[in-house]
Amino acid sequence: MTASSHSTVRQCDAVVVGAGIAGLYQMHRLRELGLSVQGIEAGTNVGGTWYWNRYPGARLDSQSELYQYWFSKELYESVPLSERFLAQPELEKWLQGVADKLDLKKSYQFSTRVEAAIFNDETGRWLVKTDQGDQIDCKYFVSCAGMLSAPMSNLFKGQETFKGKLFHTARWPKEEIDFSGKKVGVIGIGATGIQVIQSVAPLAGHLKVFVRTPQYTIRMNNPQYTEADRQKFHQEFETNKALVNTTFSGFQYDFENGSWHDATPEERQQVYEKLWSEGTLKLWLAAYFEVFVEQEANDDISEFVRNKLRARLNHDPELCDLLVPKDYGFATHRVPLENGYLEAFLRPNVTGVAVKENPIVEVVPEGIKLQDGTVHELDMLILATGFDAGTGALTRIDIRGRGGRKLADDWGRDIRTTMGLQVHGYPNLFTVGAPLAPSAALCNMTTCLQQQAGWIADAIAHLESKGLHTMEPSAEKEDEWVRHHDEIANATLLTKTDSWYMGSNIPGKPRRLLSYAGGVNVYKQACDEAKASGYPGFNLA
Ligand code: NAP
Repeated sequence: MTASSHSTVRQCDAVVVGAGIAGLYQMHRLRELGLSVQGIEAGTNVGGTWYWNRYPGARLDSQSELYQYWFSKELYESVPLSERFLAQPELEKWLQGVADKLDLKKSYQFSTRVEAAIFNDETGRWLVKTDQGDQIDCKYFVSCAGMLSAPMSNLFKGQETFKGKLFHTARWPKEEIDFSGKKVGVIGIGATGIQVIQSVAPLAGHLKVFVRTPQYTIRMNNPQYTEADRQKFHQEFETNKALVNTTFSGFQYDFENGSWHDATPEERQQVYEKLWSEGTLKLWLAAYFEVFVEQEANDDISEFVRNKLRARLNHDPELCDLLVPKDYGFATHRVPLENGYLEAFLRPNVTGVAVKENPIVEVVPEGIKLQDGTVHELDMLILATGFDAGTGALTRIDIRGRGGRKLADDWGRDIRTTMGLQVHGYPNLFTVGAPLAPSAALCNMTTCLQQQAGWIADAIAHLESKGLHTMEPSAEKEDEWVRHHDEIANATLLTKTDSWYMGSNIPGKPRRLLSYAGGVNVYKQACDEAKASGYPGFNLA
């Protein structure tokens, strides 16, 4: 498309934003309905999360055989499952392969960002505008723009003055970065930061890690998969496809150890040890349900994990003080898997810098300046500082619904959706990976994304088959879902801990648990019921 053709308004049935796991599947499903669909993707190619997050060490911590598409056995069997937790290059290649096999790329306009989407009350259609000057008139505006895709990349005063190289992990360059002999700084020890730290520590001249809130982590066990393993997964395809939709977390396992109260302290320790040694997310997502909702159970498992962390830090008092959590519980925000993150701090070329009491005040040309005036000199600075999760991808677009209401304003007051799939006031806006659905925080992402994209495709098919124009949840329906969401959220310990789960990493963001905590299985049931009973509470016109 050339710039000169941009003044005209193009027409299509649907615009899908994003060419990641959700976007590709959504595109496939909508095209299957015979709709004309325009995909818009800011990257130069498909991959979404696995396109943007190409930082050193980027890797899954969901098991590869379960982090999959389930709509085609043939597709499943074509994935080279080389190890339990695949790394970014393979994941990007996988999604490239999916897009090629389904011939999806021809439906996308790449290197293009949606800037605005305006609902027209009279025509009942959306006008989508891009940074390349496109104007697209469509019936359905479908966001698959990602739960964790709006990076917090401009956090510190003075970033532009830094003389060295500065990166945000979610905007990592495609070319190789040479860390040898360099003084490298990393801010952030979330799931991203720990992967960067353990990968860059052996490569850098010196690595300084600026630590604010210590993390509970689980040591990853990442065996190479053999041909026999792959055969087994292929045989288990149908079973696992069914299972992932019936568990709390969207994996194939569930809480299998009975009640925490019924177990003796010794039995609990055995369960923790067994799950710890498995080296997967099971210790977090499948030990005991009470861990999420009862302080006593949570304290118990938290102390178990803290002991593991202390042992790995050789009980060094200073490192333990810096890196072992004290004031919040295990499982109350994302628990990452890692492989050598803690041991990196035992290396002579790695220093942890405490920045809770003495915070970072600005980036200066030489490096990082703390509140007490100390300047840490750096050649490279890596911001592993996370995302404006859930809402950011949508509020960074100027989305206007009925009567010109603005989504950024609405969500600036209160983050509300109906099952994470639609928002009252925004007819025919459909969202995957949006707040108040079980995405990212408490779900194997591929399970939730496919389920949501599938629901949207079915809803659109319903509208088309009935000759209907618009679908929008009523205010009452949305109230009902928000109430249900909050009831469950407030019964958990998740709401007591500050993290992106609660939006507390963004100053001024309304506080609400972003992901639905009732379980992937319960959520799917609610979505299935809505569909089966003709979408009660949604206004279809
Ligand atoms: P994150 O969990 O939000 O972590 C951001 C980090 O930056 C935190 O340690 C935070 O400290 C720190 N930070 C922010 N501002 C700071 C400041 N001014 N001074 C010092 N430290 C500061 O972000 P993330 O690590 O990118 O992870 C986001 C999510 O992406 C994960 O939870 C996970 O769901 C997903 N993810 C998944 C994988 C995987 O599957 N393998 C890998 C990476 C990411 P505080 O905690 O003190 O705020």
